Order: sequence, then structure tokens, then C-alpha cells
Amino acid sequence: MKVFKSNKEYINWFEEAGKNFSIGIAPTMGNIHVAHLSLLQKAIEENDVGVITIYVNPTQFGEGEDFDNYPRTFEDDLEKISKLETANKELIVYAPSEEDIYPDGFDNFLKAGSIANELEGSVRPTHFDGVVTVVNRLFEILKPTKAYFGKKDYQQLRLIEKMANELHPNVSIVGMPIIRESSGLAMSSRNNYLNDDQKSQALILKKTLDEIKNSVKEFKDIKTLNNHVQSLLESDKRFNYISLRNQKTLAEISSIKEDIVILGNFQIGNTRLLDNLEV
Ligand code: AMP
Repeated sequence: MKVFKSNKEYINWFEEAGKNFSIGIAPTMGNIHVAHLSLLQKAIEENDVGVITIYVNPTQFGEGEDFDNYPRTFEDDLEKISKLETANKELIVYAPSEEDIYPDGFDNFLKAGSIANELEGSVRPTHFDGVVTVVNRLFEILKPTKAYFGKKDYQQLRLIEKMANELHPNVSIVGMPIIRESSGLAMSSRNNYLNDDQKSQALILKKTLDEIKNSVKEFKDIKTLNNHVQSLLESDKRFNYISLRNQKTLAEISSIKEDIVILGNFQIGNTRLLDNLEV
């Protein structure tokens, strides 16, 4: 395992290695858990080199959000990553400094697509601009063949696909399944903010999404389905939203025959929990 803490180290390795190989990257903000490792594992399986990036990106946090408190556990992360089965392939940890990502005078900030203003974006207005900006930088620096992102952050995945399609058409974006605790709770670094009681409250989100998924077929028209979802949403103030969207465009669905994803956000204290289910 190689650990590079600057662009310079990565670029030196890249030049020396000869460039003629495929690179799969798994971007993360660290505090590595099993779901992050599943992205890296796939990157290693499908490419000659697997790169996991660890960078807590300031531009995707809004004012008053948890940038300062976000769990930074670099040494533990390295230990977990080093235990991964690599089948003798090259494994790289890329943990850049802020100056590497946003050098002095940096002004190449991107705007995510219009869907960025809805769902998560309705309460985190600049969040996805920061996400596509940092992912664009990672693509410029690391020159990946494929990049792996979790479907847990479904809206993020679709906005990154759009950005890549426009700016990096040679990079394949791979959406990876949601990894859950045995309880059903989607894994997330932010679950660390919850105590046991709050973790069991959080299961309401997955249960509600399951309930909707199981009942979709029972509804003959979109209006009665939407009314049902609305009543579930109103039944618990901790839901920020539950929304039925088209899996590809993330537009609101106009027919129950579309490929639907049910997206939900549930809030416990200051912690916003995301989950979704494809139907
Ligand atoms: P983060 O460090 O939380 O920004 O996540 C880094 C990557 O891991 C993103 O592509 C996330 O979608 C993905 N990820 C985080 N949690 C999960 C999960 N429970 N299942 C699948 N992917 C996940």
C-alpha cells in the first residue's frame, strides 16, 4: 500500500509507472467503514490500480454544518484499508492537503445541475456545487479510468454522472449498492453522532421506505400513491422529505410505470440521515 499526501507524490508515481494501466478511484471523506471499503474493493477488482481518496472537502459544507467536527481518523483508516485483499494489485491512499485541491487563487468552482436545488439541495444550497467541484479536481489530478460512488448518496451520484458526462467523458462512473448495518440502517460516518436509542429511532426511515416500496404496486395511479407518501411524511416531523423520483433524471415521477427511486431524509437532532430504495 502506498500513501501519498500530495499531488506531487501521486504525479511522480503516475509518471514512473508508465501510465499504461487502468485506475479505479473511490473518493471518500475518511472515517473509513465497510461501505467505503466495498467501493475500493470493486475498484481494485476492476482495475490495475485502486485508489482511495481521503479528503474532508470544505466547499461542500455549508455555514453551521459539521466541517470542524467531521470525524478525522486517518491512522485507523489506514489500518482498515491495509487489511483489504488486493490480489497483488497496487493500492494507493491519496490524502491531499487543501493546497493540493484548492491552490492559491483557485477559481474553477463548478455549478451542479438544476436538480441540485431540490431534495438535499433544498436545505444545503451550495452542497452539490462543492461536491462536483472536488470530484472534478480529483479526476484532473488522479486521471482515473473508473470512479466508484455509493447509491446511498443517490442525488450526488446522478450529479457526478452529469458532471463527468460533460467534463470527463472518458471516466466511467460506477454506482455501488447501499451497504447497511445488520439492523438495516445505511452505514454512514454520521451514524457516529447517534447514540443507541437514536440509532433505533433512525430505523423508521428504512422501514418507511420499505413500506412504500412494497405498496407501490397496490396503487393504480400516481395521485393516490403520492397521497399515501404525503400522509407517511406528515406522520412524523423528523422526516425532511420522502420523494418518489425517476431513477435517471431525478425528476418527480408522473407515472407509476417509471423506474422509481424512493428518496428519504430523516433528522435526529442535528444529524440528517439519508436513505433510498430503487423500486
Ligand atoms: P463519504 O465519505 O461519506 O463522503 O462517502 C464516500 C463514498 O462512500 C460516497 O460515494 C458514498 O456514497 C459512499 N458511501 C457511504 N456510505 C455508504 C453506504 N452505506 N453504502 C454505499 N456507499 C456508501
